[in-house]
Amino acid sequence: MNPVHIIGGGLAGSEAAWQLARRGVPVVLHEMRPEHTTNAHETDQLAELVCSNSLRSDDATNNAVGVLHEEMRRCGSLVMAAADDAKLPAGGALAVDRHRFAGAITEAIDHEPLIEVRREAVDGMPPEDWDNVIVATGPLTSPGLTEAIQDLTGEGYLSFFDAIAPIVYKDSINFDIAWFQSRYDKPGPGGGTGDYINCPLDQETYEAFITAMLEAEQTQFKTWETETPYFEGCLPAEVMAERGIETLRFGPMKPVGLTDPRTGERPYAVVQLRQDNALGTLYNLVGFQTKIRKKQQVEVFRMIPGLENAEFARLGGLHRNTFINSPKLLDGLLRLKACPRLRFAGQITGVEGYVESAAIGLLTGRFAASERRGEAVAPPPDTTTLGALLNHITGGASDDTFQPMNINFGLLPPIKQDNGKPVKRKERKPAQSARALRDIDAWLNTEPTPEAAA
Ligand code: FAD
Repeated sequence: MNPVHIIGGGLAGSEAAWQLARRGVPVVLHEMRPEHTTNAHETDQLAELVCSNSLRSDDATNNAVGVLHEEMRRCGSLVMAAADDAKLPAGGALAVDRHRFAGAITEAIDHEPLIEVRREAVDGMPPEDWDNVIVATGPLTSPGLTEAIQDLTGEGYLSFFDAIAPIVYKDSINFDIAWFQSRYDKPGPGGGTGDYINCPLDQETYEAFITAMLEAEQTQFKTWETETPYFEGCLPAEVMAERGIETLRFGPMKPVGLTDPRTGERPYAVVQLRQDNALGTLYNLVGFQTKIRKKQQVEVFRMIPGLENAEFARLGGLHRNTFINSPKLLDGLLRLKACPRLRFAGQITGVEGYVESAAIGLLTGRFAASERRGEAVAPPPDTTTLGALLNHITGGASDDTFQPMNINFGLLPPIKQDNGKPVKRKERKPAQSARALRDIDAWLNTEPTPEAAA
């Protein structure tokens, strides 16, 4: 059997290699370190954690990433097995001894007879005779490969920075204050004239909000990040605010074409929120990509009338990050539509975080294995966190506004009681978690077992 070639031995590439080998498919894993390295990696280990040593919450009842951990364990994840083995005391979080974690993964891969590790860069278009390739080169993909990807995808579909505006759960917005309307009642991306949620600010609130943004502490770019320029269109909101008190009111906060139904008048300023996922459960604050420290963001953005009790699916940020516009470029099985012999995995697909990157690696490995073995490939249902993440990057997210995303309950379909009514808010997360774990088990039962496949 011809091997599947994986480029990049990080979280995603290592997990993909493991899943392929478990299904009896040979792998060549190309990792450029230690010969060439990135600005963030420090060792030659596979699956190195480049920053925090936490895989976040391990609560599989109330936290979406905890559910993702559990689904991955049930799928035989190498990353989760190594994390459980290297676990450190950290309350409800899954924190790990980073060297033990990466060491265990490196050892498992090195000792797996079906995986050949080649310590070399693939810094350009993979050779034509590699007919099944997984690109898992991460947020700091080497320049030559980045260029090759850009040639394939077109310039506008590869980003070098994520410029993330905060995203809130729609059901935490106060609609006694906020209202749906598109500017000048023009049909928006969804076709309707009420595609945006608007939050009005009077002059006093606006000025207090701008002052709070300017006074909030910001995260700093790392020295190497400043080498990559970001576009005017992605400026952090507080950088715009620094240019003058009125800049935002003539930019993303302009009130023109909008009428507050409570007053019948145009507000002084407006924060608009745009739908962020196909399910309509998440909305992003348009134009509010920010480098304000995360803890302070909650305080600052809750000053916006209508968002006083907002719950955030993710907070804003701006980082060096290479990622493709997956909803536009990839098919449902993570293949590049323009060149289906290439699959993508990990952070480069526009998921965010160690666990999410490994999760997409896990799916990519399984999909590539099925393809190599001539078996039908069935993606996990979108009621599971694995399926929801896959669905988000391959179609659920809008390709116009696509930005990297952590797993969160807003990506899973809402859950209803037997009588068709929505489940009460307090019970929603446990109910979505239980459904996800039940459905991942059902999905796994439909797959050929690794032993049968081997
Ligand atoms: P990586 O783990 O980066 O793996 C990619 C691998 O590909 C690397 O080993 C690299 O050497 C190799 N490679 C690159 N180009 C080539 C090539 N041409 N040929 C061969 N090999 C190549 N997420 C969190 O959850 N928590 C954090 O604290 C966190 N901190 C981060 C800090 C920084 C500075 C960055 C950039 C990202 C951070 N992330 C964090 C985001 C993300 O989860 C991690 O980057 C994660 O490692 C992504 O996994 P990956 O497998 O997609 O990429």
